[in-house]
Amino acid sequence: MNLRRVHIIKTVPAIAGPVLYWMHRDFRASDNWGLIHARLQALKLGQPVAVVFCLAPAFSGATLPHFEFLLQGLGETAKALRQSNIPFFALHGDPGIEVARFAREHMAGLIVTDFDPLRIKIRWVQDLLDACDQPVHEVDSRNIVPARVASDHREFMARTIRPKIQRQLQEFLDDFPVLPPHPHSWPSATPPPDFSALRQNLEAEATILPKTRVKPGEEAAHALLADFLENRLPLYMHRNDPNQDVCSDLSAHLHFGMISAQRMVLEIRARRIMGEHIDSFLDELIIRRELSDNFCLHTPDYDTEAGFPAWARETLHRHRHDPRPAIYAPEEFEQALTHEPLWNAAQIQMMRSGKMHGYLRMYWAKKILEWSPSASEALRIAIWLNDRYSLDGRDSNGYTGISWSIGGVHDRGWTERPIFGKIRYMNLAGARRKFDVERYASSWMTPPGN
Ligand SMILES: Cc1cc2nc3c(=O)[nH]c(=O)nc-3n(C[C@H](O)[C@H](O)[C@H](O)COP(=O)(O)OP(=O)(O)OC[C@H]3O[C@@H](n4cnc5c(N)ncnc54)[C@H](O)[C@@H]3O)c2cc1C
Repeated sequence: MNLRRVHIIKTVPAIAGPVLYWMHRDFRASDNWGLIHARLQALKLGQPVAVVFCLAPAFSGATLPHFEFLLQGLGETAKALRQSNIPFFALHGDPGIEVARFAREHMAGLIVTDFDPLRIKIRWVQDLLDACDQPVHEVDSRNIVPARVASDHREFMARTIRPKIQRQLQEFLDDFPVLPPHPHSWPSATPPPDFSALRQNLEAEATILPKTRVKPGEEAAHALLADFLENRLPLYMHRNDPNQDVCSDLSAHLHFGMISAQRMVLEIRARRIMGEHIDSFLDELIIRRELSDNFCLHTPDYDTEAGFPAWARETLHRHRHDPRPAIYAPEEFEQALTHEPLWNAAQIQMMRSGKMHGYLRMYWAKKILEWSPSASEALRIAIWLNDRYSLDGRDSNGYTGISWSIGGVHDRGWTERPIFGKIRYMNLAGARRKFDVERYASSWMTPPGN
């Protein structure tokens, strides 16, 4: 394994004891560099290895459908780990503190954990570092070229990070090693985790369960990938048409780490498929996705106006008093009560299916800017709705995509116009040129069941 994926975040003299892998972003047993690193370290030290997960009672506004997606997938992951002689411990409470407590109780020798640039995870990991007595290694299993290696500063746009990633891609696109069942067993009995007991600790709000073909878990993710490669990727050139079902639909699995982007790229390479549409897909999956982690890693205010580039803040400020064609309250946006059928349909698609089409996500966020009293309020509403209803919400891709739409992040200035200033504008006429707007709107505006 390439040790440049590993970032040592706490160095203390090692003690003999089991190795723990604290899984909090990459929820999978297969193709997981964090777990592979923990297993290899345990093998070297002649120690058992275990996976620890800790369910926080609430998580940045996540609702019950988000927790369900995670917990159902984890049940499958725990079973797969058991076959490799790796127990899975499910804790609940304040994650960093509980994992440190568990490590102390079991006299762990080393803790390995996932890389995640989002604020809540930075706090969890800091809690662990403050409370634990073990060395801690962070492994980036989300990005192919680890975010800390790809660039040490906030990149300007896709054009500036692309060559940095491409230069190192080959080095990091190595095959995942197949490891045999771990030879050192956990010293005591390890009953399977009780996920129903865990669910009772949740303080999450219930929202309508999205009706989606997307099933949680590693197996479902791999089945969806196989179907995408066979049937939809060849049509990916039509990806900006929301009436066509040609995208991978894997963003929820990628968000929960139930599938590795690196595995997806390796599968495409193994099939030797080529073409402009394949390049476009790989650019989204690798460059755009890794650029999002770069943005959140190097922008502490990734979810506020302070994260916008100076030119965008300046232009939005200059146009802050421009009259708006309409102003809606957050609840009116939520209930899809705007004057525009296309916008309402996109909002309904997100609420009913747990996902909005990628092209419409841009349009949807830009209209929230146009119909809100200020850019900061628009940003707040878009993040609230996206994180509340999208299964793939609370992701660096989401904070970046919304900041791109509303605050010019990773974009350049365009012709100045009211409200938007130099922020790129999108309108209904442009959408009409791309796809059959009426067909899309009518497919989501009919009441469910009709
Ligand atoms: C306003 C707005 C909000 C968004 N919110 C989210 C979000 O909450 N979670 C999320 O994962 N993505 C978000 N995106 C990015 C993108 O729209 C989704 O990743 C994509 O629509 C997911 O569908 P898919 O998996 O079928 O995509 P595909 O086209 O099949 O792409 C495959 C994967 O590549 C990555 N990807 C694709 N497009 C982008 C992009 N523009 N930026 C970064 N990565 C990308 C995703 O991981 C995606 O799953 C947002 C974009 C915008 C403009």
